[in-house]
Amino acid sequence: MLEKRDYVDKIIKKAIKQTEKYKDIGELASYIPELANVNPDSFAFCLVTVDGEVFSYGESEKIFSIQSISKILSLIMALHDNDPISVFDKVGSEPTSYEFNSLVPITDKATNPFINAGAMTTASMVKGANVDEKFERILAYYKKLSSFEDAYLIKDIYESEMETTDRNRAIAYYLKSKDIFSDNPNDVLDLYIRNCSIATNVCALAKTGAVLANKGYKPKTKEKLLSKKEVQIIVSQMATCGMYENSGRYLMEVGIPSKSGVSGGILGVVPGVCGLGVYCPRIDKSGNSVRGIELFKILAKDLGFTIFIN
Ligand code: GLN
Repeated sequence: MLEKRDYVDKIIKKAIKQTEKYKDIGELASYIPELANVNPDSFAFCLVTVDGEVFSYGESEKIFSIQSISKILSLIMALHDNDPISVFDKVGSEPTSYEFNSLVPITDKATNPFINAGAMTTASMVKGANVDEKFERILAYYKKLSSFEDAYLIKDIYESEMETTDRNRAIAYYLKSKDIFSDNPNDVLDLYIRNCSIATNVCALAKTGAVLANKGYKPKTKEKLLSKKEVQIIVSQMATCGMYENSGRYLMEVGIPSKSGVSGGILGVVPGVCGLGVYCPRIDKSGNSVRGIELFKILAKDLGFTIFIN
């Protein structure tokens, strides 16, 4: 066991070193002012196996906002609260070549649950008497999935995005105008932005990934948090739609079902093996962490994480 641990540790350390050359590439997501208020050189990585073994590197306890990785959470809650077929009556399951906050991929429904319009649609399907209650349910579930009991809403991020979120407000009103949901668009938007503002760290992401990698069971405690059907839906949507308009290329070059966020985090799932979390806030034009992608690419190759070659 120790021998294997040393082997994995050595490969990860080497991969991290190899990605140092990417550390100045990419920009911070300044369209949400508070997101630019971070150290651009921060780096953290965590891997959690399906047996619950943790490998962590860099600033692994550093808090950042989960951003679009929360789209996994609203999909999970929508699936819990509704029959999966009815969820996909309201949101599509196909990738899009448009950016995450585009209105174009909204026809009779949003193209998939991992673009902003799709995540607002799934948020509108979460049960609760009001926005507070819905958000509390989502946050409570995230605490369970991630084993990050102290997860909370980062107020500065939430307020900063609420002040600048015209595009998302337009999306919420457009969805309502198309009868995709009947709720007040301001409430749906509020819930969506709260979800994006949840505090996380790389180990919380990797632990969530490990539940998905472990057929929905929490490593070690074996608590069942997701059904196999839910895992199948979430992981397959991560594979095809998780990296915005770069999802196809990413799947081809990396081959790990993943979901990214504009704060610079990526959550990866290697089915049957482990969950991954990386944080490095410089992102590319699509909104994906530049160094994070390069690290996953090397690990996919060196540790055999590509789902297509086994
Ligand atoms: N809160 C961000 C937004 O709605 C999330 C986008 C992202 O992470 N890609 O613009």
